[in-house]
Amino acid sequence: MNKAEETRTYLRSLNLSWCRDNLDQTLQTASSTDISYLDFLNRLLQGEINYREKRSEERRMKMAGFPFVKSIDEFDFAFQRSITRKQVNQLLDMQWIEKFYNLIFLGPPGVGKTHLAVAIGLEAVKKGYKVSFVNMDDLIKHLKLETTSTRSRQRMKRIMASDLVVIDEIGFVPITRQEANLFFQLISSLYEQTALIITSNKGFEDWAELMGDPVITTAILDRIAHHSEIFNLTGDSYRLKHRDSILRL
Ligand code: ADP
Ligand code: MG
Repeated sequence: MNKAEETRTYLRSLNLSWCRDNLDQTLQTASSTDISYLDFLNRLLQGEINYREKRSEERRMKMAGFPFVKSIDEFDFAFQRSITRKQVNQLLDMQWIEKFYNLIFLGPPGVGKTHLAVAIGLEAVKKGYKVSFVNMDDLIKHLKLETTSTRSRQRMKRIMASDLVVIDEIGFVPITRQEANLFFQLISSLYEQTALIITSNKGFEDWAELMGDPVITTAILDRIAHHSEIFNLTGDSYRLKHRDSILRL
């Protein structure tokens, strides 16, 4: 075995796969630019670290399960005036995640609740947080199947291990009292352990009807709203305003 091969074997054993794959290239650049030993080592290790960070972000992004990818830059704050770019910028420092605060976006369909939730979630992923996005319907399904389905169990495990859980579309479909109970248990175990983003097309006053039990609803709301920032988004549906028409009249 020559020295290069031997070195690659060492790098492999140490799990430094980027270094192994880029050893020749880095050596070549080093000798042609005449850098110091320290610079050479520095470059090699920097490459490994960059590669690992990128891989880990890709993994977190995949695990997050966003329904679409849209950024804050794509959000038109001139159209949606109930929230300002300055407020969102403040949220992007992610201090609220560190403090297990919740963000609640309320408002009718099409005002940008899911877009904001995704865009903020995405920034959280980029900053290194573990995020799970789930819509209420799927969440209830997973909670009910947790004991019988491996997939649901894995999904719930991932949700429990997240720094931020986005629960989208509370209120589209009413839930039974038994389902509300399961939801309450989840909210209780996430309380002051995990930050939440919640979106709902219903105001809090309508939640009791939605969850079939005023006592459970109050207990859920209590925990969700305790440390929270509530955004009431109003205005027209962006979808309807920017509807694509196929007729050009
Ligand atoms: P909601 O969840 O409130 O029903 P969405 O966030 O899903 O609404 O928005 C519906 C569509 O309109 C999405 O494609 C979203 O990207 C777009 N949209 C909504 N509000 C805005 C906005 N202010 N600027 C840009 N796109 C928007
Ligand atoms: Mg939505």
